[in-house]
Amino acid sequence: MFISETPQFEIHRLYAHNSLRNYTYLILKKATREVTIIDPWDAEACLDYLRNLESSQFFVINTHQHHDHVKGNAGLLAAGAVIQLPDYLQAQPLPGHTCEHVVFYLKDESEHLFCGDTLFQAGVGNCKNGGDPLALYASIQWLRTHLLLSTLLHVGHDYFKKNLHFAQQFEPDNSDIQYYLSNLKLQEGFEMPPNSWAIELKINPFLRLSETALRQGLKRLDKFESSELVSDRDIFIKLRSLRDNF
Ligand SMILES: [Zn+2]
Repeated sequence: MFISETPQFEIHRLYAHNSLRNYTYLILKKATREVTIIDPWDAEACLDYLRNLESSQFFVINTHQHHDHVKGNAGLLAAGAVIQLPDYLQAQPLPGHTCEHVVFYLKDESEHLFCGDTLFQAGVGNCKNGGDPLALYASIQWLRTHLLLSTLLHVGHDYFKKNLHFAQQFEPDNSDIQYYLSNLKLQEGFEMPPNSWAIELKINPFLRLSETALRQGLKRLDKFESSELVSDRDIFIKLRSLRDNF
């Protein structure tokens, strides 16, 4: 599925139709038709897509080592792929979901971030398989100081609908959350375009830790003493553990 383009690149996305709802990304460099594949799930599906893109040179990179993000590596390597970070992508370590997690920036007039499982639409990654919520909190704060409002976020899984339902518990009057939930009644999450950072700031509870409405929602649900003395970091940790059991 074609997602976006810049003067030099096209961004395509494959949806895995598996229970984990994985996304794989393909970045086509228009001048050379080389393709960089990020987090391949299904090598055959990637190779089919590469044929449609008329690309015979391709690289593979992974945001982290979880099996659902590297499963397609072997098949692609057998078909001639090379594991290599191309010079037009910048890697940034952002631990939390796992200790070795990295994200990749593409900058070409517009800014694109390939987030892996650090950030999702209306949510963040879990820390249950080798992660650390405090490290994830620090990584999300790093994004807060480095992303542009217009940065497009290419996430590792489609958890959009479930994340919105989680967020709506705390902010039932948030019209942006309502808007995206009503859009998801019309189309599947994996058909939705990527969100910008500006959108995430409006709907993602993990980015809204200081918001009065969110804190009151936490208190109303009687799940947290949401006094003003509670730090953003503590709210983040609480939300992460609530989402683990949602
Ligand atoms: Zn993962």
